[in-house]
Amino acid sequence: MNVLVINCGSSSLKYQLINSDSETVLAKGLCERIGIDGSAITHQKAGEGKVKTEIPMANHTDAVNFVIEKLTDAEVGVIKSLDEIDAVGHRMVHGGEEFAGSCVITEEVIKVVESCNDLAPLHNPANLIGIAACKEVMPEVPMVGVFDTAFHQTMPKKAYLYGLPYEYYDKYKVRRYGFHGTSHDFVSNRAAEILGKDRKDLKIIVCHLGNGASITAVKNGESVDTSMGLTPLEGLIMGTRSGDLDPAIVTFIAEKEGITAQEVIDICNKKSGVLGLSGGFSSDFRDLAEAAANGNDMAKTALDAYAYRVGKYIGAYTAAMNGVDVICFTAGAGENNAEVRALIGQYIGFLGTNIDSEKNKVRGEEIILSDEGSKVVTMVVPTDEEMAIARETVRLVK
Ligand code: ADP
Repeated sequence: MNVLVINCGSSSLKYQLINSDSETVLAKGLCERIGIDGSAITHQKAGEGKVKTEIPMANHTDAVNFVIEKLTDAEVGVIKSLDEIDAVGHRMVHGGEEFAGSCVITEEVIKVVESCNDLAPLHNPANLIGIAACKEVMPEVPMVGVFDTAFHQTMPKKAYLYGLPYEYYDKYKVRRYGFHGTSHDFVSNRAAEILGKDRKDLKIIVCHLGNGASITAVKNGESVDTSMGLTPLEGLIMGTRSGDLDPAIVTFIAEKEGITAQEVIDICNKKSGVLGLSGGFSSDFRDLAEAAANGNDMAKTALDAYAYRVGKYIGAYTAAMNGVDVICFTAGAGENNAEVRALIGQYIGFLGTNIDSEKNKVRGEEIILSDEGSKVVTMVVPTDEEMAIARETVRLVK
């Protein structure tokens, strides 16, 4: 089967066409600045270079039409016609408490996702626009929604409730949901596979360290706690997001700066994290590691604070599971940034991780970092959210 995986943002649309039988990516790309001046599609056929075409896209339906045009193009295309797309898998951000798994998209499902819009005002409406656009262009092709929150629906109440009046949970469903679920599920599964063990017998901590970052405790195959909350702002210090804060800070800064609480939250989302800590230097871990090595103190502090927070969460989740067998690093920085992993390694050695500094130099590959016989296996497992979405789509459509 050929599955078109779509990840739709408010002005962007990422896509991959995956052949699920061979589990290969046939082509991928990105439509940017949809509905804004200067929109463009960047398309890449597997094994070839990227081709960028600037072309006006008034809306997401235009974007989907251009994606199909590229995929069926005589030169850069990989299929002859639309008929060769057997299903579409959509990355969905927030499924609230309604979705504990992926599902085939129906009118009913769309209504339920709409009812979760409040919880993810930036992401969910964009996901729904993507669904509507695909439906318009390919009305006969079945579609599946794969939710970022679904894997975490197994969390117990003690982990997902905040210490707030219970009525806010009752009335508004204010609770921890968690995100990156597709990645945490994929990586913990793959880690067990690599180790030749059943995930049901393991206590695994997955550190998804990208621009957005989160950590999940996966006990016996289920998410039992995760660091992101009602929104993806909670938890780790991230590229531009603050992570955990004393909530009183929001009104404190608002009053001091004469701005609204919402503006402070925007700052927490877009100008904080390692970007903010480094005095606005960079949100990119490569830049920060290089600057820190060249004596930039603020970059060094930003990385130290980042790694310290990750270390604390690993300690917390070891307690949450009453032990840990495997710690996995994944996503951009987790897979590639040896400096960041080494900094985190300083805090978790007491668990018996024994990270080998030579093995830690490896980038972007599956590798066990711990010495043989270490009490806790530490490893790098590259994530592949698109492949996970394609697998889920095939499972539900077949
Ligand atoms: P997201 O998908 O959340 O936007 P990514 O998973 O792509 O983010 O992670 C981005 C981060 O990964 C960046 O901070 C970047 O510096 C880091 N990263 C990516 N590739 C490398 C690399 N080769 N070496 C070091 N760091 C890298």
